[in-house]
Amino acid sequence: MQKNEYTKQILLVISLVLLFMVPDYIVRLFNESYKVSFGYATFLRLLLMLMPLSVGLIYNKYKWLTYAIIALLCGLQLMQFSIISCFGRVVTPYDFVTMFDEWNDILLGAVDAFSKHWLVIPAVLIPFALVFVLTELNIKRSVIGTFVLLVTLGSVFVADCFLRGVPYPIDGRIALDNTLKSFSFAIRDIFAEYKTPKYASYEIKNVGIKCDEPITVVYIVGESMTANHMSLYGYERDTTPLLKKLAENENFYYTRGIAGAVCTKAANKFMANVIWEPNNVKLNANSETSLCKLAHDNGFKVFYITSQDNKMLSSICTAHKKYIDVCVTKTGNEATVDKRRDEYILDTLDKQELTERNFIIIHQRCPHCPYTENFPEGYTDKHHYTGSNEPKIDEYDNVMLYEDTFLSRVFDRFNKQISGKFYIIFASDHNELFGEEGVWGHSSLVPICAEIPVMAQSNDDEFMKRIKSIYKPTHYEIAQMIAGILGYKIHNPNQKENVFHINGLDYDGRNGYMEAYKDEENKTVTYKTYR
Ligand SMILES: [Zn+2]
Repeated sequence: MQKNEYTKQILLVISLVLLFMVPDYIVRLFNESYKVSFGYATFLRLLLMLMPLSVGLIYNKYKWLTYAIIALLCGLQLMQFSIISCFGRVVTPYDFVTMFDEWNDILLGAVDAFSKHWLVIPAVLIPFALVFVLTELNIKRSVIGTFVLLVTLGSVFVADCFLRGVPYPIDGRIALDNTLKSFSFAIRDIFAEYKTPKYASYEIKNVGIKCDEPITVVYIVGESMTANHMSLYGYERDTTPLLKKLAENENFYYTRGIAGAVCTKAANKFMANVIWEPNNVKLNANSETSLCKLAHDNGFKVFYITSQDNKMLSSICTAHKKYIDVCVTKTGNEATVDKRRDEYILDTLDKQELTERNFIIIHQRCPHCPYTENFPEGYTDKHHYTGSNEPKIDEYDNVMLYEDTFLSRVFDRFNKQISGKFYIIFASDHNELFGEEGVWGHSSLVPICAEIPVMAQSNDDEFMKRIKSIYKPTHYEIAQMIAGILGYKIHNPNQKENVFHINGLDYDGRNGYMEAYKDEENKTVTYKTYR
């Protein structure tokens, strides 16, 4: 081989290595929260991973394999940088798992995020297009190249899944390393046999209901609500004037609570079922402590009314067909819900026949992102707030004004009951963030993502006293209280005093969770994260 040829080959390899790292540095230019450090660890990865990967791609004998791997890496990096840009965090192994469950949300979010985060696309596509062109330049291909390529990818897989112990990406590393780590683990997860932790059974005592009068329990499962943007909680823009008026009633209480998870699917599980453990797989799979089952068994008519599709049903109650009497979701009613949005819930409520005992779960879609998609057709006050540095904040605050009218109407519909008891409880599934602590949206496993608004109104003084006595009520404590109203005493032998859990993207604990230690006396909460 001539000297010139050697230089060409070396330049080719170096160019590919650099091109794999280019997106990290471009994304840094327009995303301040993303940082990649170039230290010893990065240098090592560069030598052990990017260098042989580049050599393998250039000299691989089979062109189709080179194309397939470049396309896969490009797609994975597009996903990685989209998540970094939109949510300020790196891809975790569980993003691949939940991707299929929440595909519609992801698509909607992607379309909405495009205008703000589109720079990610050329930042990834251009370097990968160049990688593709450069691998075409080489004509000296052989099976040795194929061998290097496959051994490199195989070693990355083994190192990521079996040597490091903790299958979690690390902030500050080059993105391709983090991407492959998460992807490798997601692949392993498909084939791994998950060992379920064993827990003692809960003691569920049906103590019955003393009151012979009518009882209506309304549990409003909020979606992406943040107390930080509600004037009820002191936000400077008067986004919730009607709830503030409602709060003048003595029997109305609002506070900040702690969610059972940082994403919808997992949080719904802990809202609608009495489950304390972050990985009680057995209880997750059956309906033993489902509030719907408990209500049904004690003679309540059970309603689940939502403007979301029916994908969340398994989180709400695994045997929903058996225990939910009236189940109305967006599925099958898409055209109407697309027009009416959460008004559809009120329209559906209008048509219902209530009985002496009702347990009603209202599961909202508003104000989930894309925020502007939550307005019902004909709603005019969509641009009340303008001029924020961050347009998303204006969008969210505007939809909060609509949310204020929605929630106050739900409370006012049920708080007029004179004979018997009414209980109206609202809790958000998780928080929604606008750059607080560098986090946007939800789904990040950090304590701030689990801070939620909680509201309650009831003519049962004992219940109001109980909820007011709990410092930062958790989803678990709220579910326990509701089980109490429905006539049950649930003793959990596994529960530790003042300890609660916040799951990540799923309810089996495999994607990490936090433990929250509540100090009721000093009014503090400390957190410990398990990944
Ligand atoms: Zn949610």
